[in-house]
Amino acid sequence: MIGNVGGEASVLIVDDLPENIGVLRGMLAPEGYQLYAAMTGEHAIKIARQYSPDLILLDVSMPGMNGFETCYALRQDSATASIPVVFVTAHSATADVVAGFRAGAVDYIGKPLRREEVCARVRTHIQNSRLLKWQRSQTEEFRAIVNNMSEGLLMFTPEGVVRFVNPAALHLIGQVEEDVTGRSITNLLPPTFAQSLIRYMLDETAGSGEAQRAFFSQKEIEIRRPDGNIFPVDFSLSRIFLREPLFVGVMHDMSTHKASQDELRRMIRNDPLTGISNRRHLDDFVSQEWQRAQRSGKAIGLAMIDVDHFKQYNDELGHLAGDRCLQRIAVEIRKFARRSTDLAARYGGEEFAMVFAEFDTAHSFRVADSLRRAVSSLALPHPASPTSSVVTVSVGMATLVPSAQLSVHDLFAKADAALYEAKRSGRNKTIVVN
Ligand code: GH3
Ligand code: MG
Ligand code: MG
Repeated sequence: MIGNVGGEASVLIVDDLPENIGVLRGMLAPEGYQLYAAMTGEHAIKIARQYSPDLILLDVSMPGMNGFETCYALRQDSATASIPVVFVTAHSATADVVAGFRAGAVDYIGKPLRREEVCARVRTHIQNSRLLKWQRSQTEEFRAIVNNMSEGLLMFTPEGVVRFVNPAALHLIGQVEEDVTGRSITNLLPPTFAQSLIRYMLDETAGSGEAQRAFFSQKEIEIRRPDGNIFPVDFSLSRIFLREPLFVGVMHDMSTHKASQDELRRMIRNDPLTGISNRRHLDDFVSQEWQRAQRSGKAIGLAMIDVDHFKQYNDELGHLAGDRCLQRIAVEIRKFARRSTDLAARYGGEEFAMVFAEFDTAHSFRVADSLRRAVSSLALPHPASPTSSVVTVSVGMATLVPSAQLSVHDLFAKADAALYEAKRSGRNKTIVVN
C-alpha cells in the first residue's frame, strides 16, 4: 500500500488563477493522480474536509484567505491536520519560506515550476504521508489491542521500573496509572518475587540469566491489592528487544478458575447435607495420617459416632426434621476438630466419625465422652426414643499406634466394636479401646 502512490493517490491544487491550476494539472495528470482544484482558501478547506486528499499544493497569495491562513486553518482542524501541505509560489524570499513552514507546510516549491521537480516532491510527500498514516493506524491498532485485552500487561526495565501498564493490569492490581508508571514493580507484585525478578532481569540483560529463565517464564503468584484483597495471577515474563532492554509481564487473572477449582475440590471432599468431610475424604485422610504415624510412632484416634434410635426419630418427626437434626449434630462434632490433624466427617447415614492424628491416648475417654455429651446437650427432643427424651449418640473410640503388623482396617474394626459395645450397653454411652 505504501509503494502504491500512483493510481489511488489524490492531490488538491489550490490557486486563484485557473491557468496556474492548469499548469499543475498538466504536470500531475500523467502521473495518474486523482486531482481536485480550488480557487479560494475557503473552498480548499471544504474539499480537503470532504475528500481528504493525500497532498495539498497551495498558492500563497490569494484574495480573501491567503495561503498561510489557509494552511493554518487546515492544521487546526483534526479532519485535515494530517494532510501534508506544499506551498507553490514565486514568493521565495526567506521570510515567506519561514512563514510557510510556521503555518504548518511540509515543503515549498518555487516558481517557475519544473515538471520533474514538482512530480518528485509530490511523490515523496505522498509516500511519507502514507507511511505516517500507516504507522499511526498501526499504533492505534496495537493500542486498541493492548487497551482492550483481558490480560494485564506491564512493561518494565531490567531494574524493575514500570514503563507501561494497560487498563486490565491496573484493574487487576487495583491501582491507578499515576501510581504505577515510573515506579518499581515491587509496589505491584509480591515484593520478594519482584526482587528476585529484578535480579534475574539484570542477569538476563548481562547475558547470564539462563539458569532462572524457566522459573520466571510462567509463574503463579498472589497479588495483594491496596484494599487488602489477595487474588491469584498467572504471571508470564518475556524479554523484548527495543532501543533498550525491556521486559513484558503478562498477568492472567486466575481467581475465577481458582474459585471453581476450590468449589470442585470442596464438592468432592464434603458431604452436601452437613458440609463436613465425607467418607471418601475421611478414608484418604486416615490413610495419609496412618502412614505418617508409622514414621513418627504416634497414636491415631478414631471415634465412630452413631445417632441412637434415629429411625424412630425420622418416623416420628419426618425425614426433613431428621436432616436438620443431622446438620445440628455435624456442627457440634466439627467443633472438636481443633487441630489440622483432626478431622470430622459424616461416615454415612446417621453415623459420624472423627480422626485425631498425633493423638495422646491419655485423653481418649475425655475427648470421646465430650463428643457424646455435646450432642445430648443440644437437647433436641426425641419423643419416640425408648432410652432418652433428647437426641443422643453412642460413641466408640479406638486408638492405635500404627505398625507393620496392623492396617487402617484394624483401627476401624476396633472403633466399630467399641461402638457396638456402646449400643449394646444401653446407648448414649462412650466406649474406648486403646
Ligand atoms: P440405633 O440406635 O441402633 O443406631 O438405631 P437407629 O434407628 O439409629 O439405626 P438404624 O440403622 O436402624 O436407622 C438409621 C436411620 O437413619 C435410618 C435412615 O432412614 C436414617 N437416615 C440415614 N441417613 C439419613 C439422612 O440423610 N437423613 C435422614 N433424615 N435420615 C437418615
Ligand atoms: Mg443409629
Ligand atoms: Mg447406624
